[in-house]
Amino acid sequence: MNTAATRERDLSGITPSGHLTLGNHLGALRRFVQRQGRREGFYFIADLHALTMPHDPVRHRLLTLSTGALFLAAGLGADRSVVFVQSHVPAHVEMAYLLECTAHVGELSRMIQFKEKGGRPGTRASLFTYPCLMAADILLYEARSVPVGGDQSQHVELTRDLAERFNVTYGETFVVPELVPAALAARVADLQHPARKMSKSAPDDAAGVLRMLDSPDVIASKIRRAVTDSDGEVRYDPETKPGVSNLLEIRAALVGSDPAGLAPRFRGYGPLKASVTDAVIAELGPIRRRHDELMADPAELVRLLDAGAERAHSAAATVLTRARKAMGVA
Ligand code: ATP
Ligand code: MG
Repeated sequence: MNTAATRERDLSGITPSGHLTLGNHLGALRRFVQRQGRREGFYFIADLHALTMPHDPVRHRLLTLSTGALFLAAGLGADRSVVFVQSHVPAHVEMAYLLECTAHVGELSRMIQFKEKGGRPGTRASLFTYPCLMAADILLYEARSVPVGGDQSQHVELTRDLAERFNVTYGETFVVPELVPAALAARVADLQHPARKMSKSAPDDAAGVLRMLDSPDVIASKIRRAVTDSDGEVRYDPETKPGVSNLLEIRAALVGSDPAGLAPRFRGYGPLKASVTDAVIAELGPIRRRHDELMADPAELVRLLDAGAERAHSAAATVLTRARKAMGVA
């Protein structure tokens, strides 16, 4: 097999474990949009990965569709990149099973998620096996390099081990992805707990989490209540002024400047918060409106996601067929 011709691909999935946040936008969606055109991009809503913990089917389906609509509304898809829902491309599950037949129980029991949450009564078997699904997500698209932040590197290490073991046991089948450190992206902190990352899986009503779909009023009120400090000086100093520095970082990320340089422009926290509010509303407003249009026209949304799944299927089928043949699954 000649893998030298494999194109460099950008591949990323987001689990619909909650409504997407400003952090997801600045750290993921917006960066994907900026990279479009330079590389072939596959962006998926990892709906199957959200099933490893107790879940509500109605909410899950809504979050999956809404996240798909947000990907499209942010500017992904159409002829620029491929946006799809993971479960719409059955090759992911099929490949995951072949990889479960490659993985060893020992290495799966060493995965952090399973070590942390696997001992509870009622633990789903998928919490044990999901790293094989994640490996399938990566290997199906022959991504040469997978940029990951710290908490994801164990998954990519496992993917490499499985790909190498498979290739040695059954013949060259997979491109073994390189693990490359993710480029430093803005890390948006929770507005109420600036030492913590803003996370979509926080409770829906978490006051410190700006959701991509929040109305302008809600955005304004969450930013107005953002935790700062009592010295009143706008200065970029993440160590001693994490709340104010987070606001400066958000403002800087949105207007493309640097947070320290911005600080002297603001006399007091009120004007800083007002400016951050304007910038967030200006960024998210058009995306929210496009999202709402798509959600109001489910036929069009399904058509767009189906078209993405079709393209993902074509890309994934080659590798799946090769793996099936290698394993003797006729
Ligand atoms: P969860 O709470 O389910 O882990 P999350 O908000 O942390 O949700 P992930 O699914 O872990 O989101 O990550 C999706 C993408 O969003 C990744 O590319 C990640 O780097 C990026 N991301 C998540 N949170 C932030 C944040 N606060 N700031 C910048 N980027 C973020
Ligand atoms: Mg996370």
